Amino acid sequence: TQQVHIIGGGLAGSEAAWQLAEAGLHVRLSEMRGGGDTTPAHDTDRLAEMVCSNSFRSDDAEKNAVGLLHREMRDMGSLIMRAADKHRVPAGSALAVDRDAFAAEVTQAVESHPNITVVRERIDALPVHPTIIATGPLTGSGLAAAIAAETGQDALAFFDAIAPIVHKDSIDMDVAWMAARWDKGGKDYVNCPLDREQYQAFVAALNAGEKTEFKEWEKDTPYFEGCMPIEVMAERGVETLRFGPMKGVGLDNPHTATPDHPNGRWPYACVQLRQDNALGTLWNMVGFQTKLKHGEQVRIFRTIPGLENAEFARLGGIHRNSFINSPRLLDAQLRLKSKPNIRFAGQITGCEGYVESAAVGILAARFAAAELRGETLAPPPVETAMGALLGHITGGADAETFQPMNVNFGLMPPLEGPRAKKGDRKKMYTSRARAAFAAWKEGSKVAEPA
Ligand code: FAD
Repeated sequence: TQQVHIIGGGLAGSEAAWQLAEAGLHVRLSEMRGGGDTTPAHDTDRLAEMVCSNSFRSDDAEKNAVGLLHREMRDMGSLIMRAADKHRVPAGSALAVDRDAFAAEVTQAVESHPNITVVRERIDALPVHPTIIATGPLTGSGLAAAIAAETGQDALAFFDAIAPIVHKDSIDMDVAWMAARWDKGGKDYVNCPLDREQYQAFVAALNAGEKTEFKEWEKDTPYFEGCMPIEVMAERGVETLRFGPMKGVGLDNPHTATPDHPNGRWPYACVQLRQDNALGTLWNMVGFQTKLKHGEQVRIFRTIPGLENAEFARLGGIHRNSFINSPRLLDAQLRLKSKPNIRFAGQITGCEGYVESAAVGILAARFAAAELRGETLAPPPVETAMGALLGHITGGADAETFQPMNVNFGLMPPLEGPRAKKGDRKKMYTSRARAAFAAWKEGSKVAEPA
C-alpha cells in the first residue's frame, strides 16, 4: 500500500485522512498544533477544532443546499458528519454540536485508525510524494510562501474581500437593465439605478449600519487599492461612492427613454452587478466588499431599486483567509496543474465553511485513492451539492473575481421549465440532486461506507 501525506488536521484534513484510511491506504497526517505551533484562531490541539460557531448550519436536505450536502456526505461515510450527528445539541432544524465532544471524537477516531499516523509537525515545503494540502484559512507562513512560490504571488490570497452575490432570477429587470458603461464591450452588467434621494438615503444607511469588528489579530488587514469596504468609502463623504463603485455616468437607462432621449438618461448613481459563474445564475455586486453585519446588508441592499427582493447567495465580508485561485490552478480532480502530486482540500481551495471544507476533503481523498489504484473517479455531477461546489471552485467561478463561497443552489445548473414557487424550486433542486448523486455513485462504483 502507498502512503498519502495530508498536511493539516482540521475539518478537511481529518475527513480526508479517514476516507483514505478506510479505502485501505496509509496516511501520514501532519498537524502543527500540538507540535509547538498554533494559529491565531485555534484554542486546542484537537483535530477538527471548530474555531468559531458550533453550527453546521441547516440540516434540511429537502430545501437547503447545505442540508443536501450533509446528506451526500453521510452517504459517503463522512467521519465529520458521523461525529457531528453523535454530538448534536438542540438547535431547531440546524445541526449544531458540542464542539469539545465533537473534536475529541474525530481526534480519537483518526488517531486510533490503524492506517493513519498523526504527526505533530509543521510542514514548510511542498512535498514530492502524493500529498493533500488542507491547511485552512490560517495556513502556516512557511508553507504559504512555498505555495506562492509555486503558483505565483497573485494566486494565493491572505485576505478575502467579499462583495455580496445575488441570484440573478431574484433581480427585478423591469427596474434594472443590462448594459456596459459607455456602451463598451457588450451589455455585460446588470445596472440598478438610484435617484438623488435614494442615493443619499443609501449612504446614510451605510453610515448608520452596524459593522463587524476586526478581531485583534486581524487588525493589520490591509485595505488593498480597489477593495475598500463601501461603508469606509461612505464615511469619507457623501459623494465618494458616486465617484467610485456607484458611478452613474455613461449608463443610458432605457427605462427612462423619451422622444428627446431615445436611449434614456444616466442615473444619479448606479450599482452594477457582474456575472460570477459560468452558469450565469450568480452575479456579484461590483466593488461592494463590506464589513456590515449580514442582517444589515440584506436590509440596506434591498433598498437598491431592482434588488428589493434580492436573494443573496453570499453576503459580503473581509477576513484573514488564505486561499488559492483554484479555478486557475487546480484541475477537476483537485490537483495542482503544475505539480499533480499535490492536491488541495478545505477552505484553502476557496470553499467556505466547516461543512464545505470537510466535503472537499472527502472528494480530494476519493480522487487520490482512485488514482493510487490506477483508476479515475469521475467528479460528482454539478446537479449534486458536492459536484456543484467542486465545479465552482475548479472552473465554474470567474478566476478574476474568485472569492470564497458557500454551497448554494445558484452553483447548480438552473432548473428547466417555468419558474416554480420558491419552496417548490428548492425541492426540485434537491430531488434532482438526489437522483444525480445516486446515479453517480452507482456508475462510478463509489464504495458504500464501512
Ligand atoms: P482548518 O480547520 O483551519 O484546519 C487547518 C489545519 O491545518 C489547522 O489545524 C492548522 O493548525 C493546520 N496547519 C496550518 N498550516 C500548517 C502547516 N504548515 N503544517 C501543518 N499543519 C498546518 N466556518 C464556519 O463554517 N463557521 C464559522 O463560524 C467559522 N468561523 C470562522 C472564524 C475564524 C476566525 C476563521 C479563521 C474561520 C472561520 N470559519 C468558519 C472558517 C473555518 O475555518 C473553516 O470553515 C474550516 O475550519 C476550514 O477547514 P479546513 O480544514 O480547511 O481548515
